Amino acid sequence: MAKGKPGIDIERCKGCALCIEACPEKILKMSESFNRQGQPYTICFEPERCTSCMSCAIICPDSAIRIWRYVAV
Ligand code: SF4
Ligand code: SF4
Repeated sequence: MAKGKPGIDIERCKGCALCIEACPEKILKMSESFNRQGQPYTICFEPERCTSCMSCAIICPDSAIRIWRYVAV
């Protein structure tokens, strides 16, 4: 299984939670603090479990998530 981690641009996030529902690993949750727009934002609390499946990035309507993939060297 590929490994990676989500890179979340918290200032683009509007807290819609679509990515949280979409993540098959259930490793995303809403923050308890707010971004500069006054919105809660998604955080990844167990990035080591990310499979870089891209589901969160694809569903995000605001293109706030990029997936970093680890490659073997
Ligand atoms: S890439 Fe997949 S496993 Fe990783 S945080 Fe996004 S939805 Fe979850
Ligand atoms: S889908 Fe995008 S805008 Fe919605 S909570 Fe996730 S990162 Fe934020």
